[in-house]
Amino acid sequence: MDVAEVDLFFLSYDHCSIIMIEFSFTCPYCWENQLKLVDPSESSQAFIEDCETCCNPISFYFKISDNIIVQSDVVSIEQ
Ligand SMILES: [Zn+2]
Repeated sequence: MDVAEVDLFFLSYDHCSIIMIEFSFTCPYCWENQLKLVDPSESSQAFIEDCETCCNPISFYFKISDNIIVQSDVVSIEQ
């Protein structure tokens, strides 16, 4: 996984100092470039979410260290 390709930056600081990481990815179904907000307070997270464009289920996996995504996986769900 080439982390240099991951375009991320700190999006916002609210009053509780919660930082969300903005993660850009390409849908494995429709190849639409999209953004996802990732909560860095959980160092490892995996979840499935539908693509906002084509509604197909996408499997996300993030590994986060010091508010930086050190590993990411965005894959289609094999039926
Ligand atoms: Zn899609």
